[in-house]
Amino acid sequence: MKQVERRGAGGLGKAAPASRGDPAAGMAAEVDRRLLRCYGDREWSPRFGELLDGLVHTILSQNTSDVNSHRAFEQLKEAFPTWEDAAGAATADIEEAIRSGGISRVKAERIKAVLEMVRADCGSYSLECLREMGVEQARDYLLGMPGVGRKTAAVLLLFQLGYPLFPVDTHILRVGKRLGLIPPRASADQAHDIMDTAVPDDIKFRLHINLIEHGRAVCKARKPDCPGCCLNDICPRVGLKEEGSGDA
Ligand code: SF4
Repeated sequence: MKQVERRGAGGLGKAAPASRGDPAAGMAAEVDRRLLRCYGDREWSPRFGELLDGLVHTILSQNTSDVNSHRAFEQLKEAFPTWEDAAGAATADIEEAIRSGGISRVKAERIKAVLEMVRADCGSYSLECLREMGVEQARDYLLGMPGVGRKTAAVLLLFQLGYPLFPVDTHILRVGKRLGLIPPRASADQAHDIMDTAVPDDIKFRLHINLIEHGRAVCKARKPDCPGCCLNDICPRVGLKEEGSGDA
């Protein structure tokens, strides 16, 4: 693969130049300041020692809870201690091992295909080759994998390598639209582009986690607690009563 300039965790320490003077960036920074007071700071550190562990865990986390995906990952590693073991196993056996993570047939097929692709491209069952890529090249490579979309790619690159990308999950799409950070009709992919640009790099990790927490605890899909929300004096959707139109 073509090698380009490496950009690692240091990317999170720099504000994105494109955000200066941008109203969306100003709003993102203000939201971050308030959520920082509500939920605290978040220190970045990689969740897994192995990048491939992080990718498989992220695939397992699709459409299920953190608890279920973590359990499925542990059970997968227990059944297949190495990725070579998993690659050589029948898809049905992987499916059985990850059953607690939901849509296990689909995820088992994705994991098998990803393992094969990684070995073919990187020469072993290791994704360390990602470290030699720049942000866009690494993201494009991951997007070429089966079952890997913008969110999965961004989660892996932000959480494992500290690359300055902003993953948008269902909570962030909903809360971001209510706050006016994301236009009402934006798709999830468009929202990634918007948030990648609008959110300064040095707050991407913290704001991503705090927005999810806020979406789960306060700005819920149904019956958001606007009176108790620390953003209610800057939120255009304050007073929202019933969910439906315009929300993710
Ligand atoms: S004021 Fe209401 S709609 Fe706005 S972010 Fe807070 S809970 Fe969500």
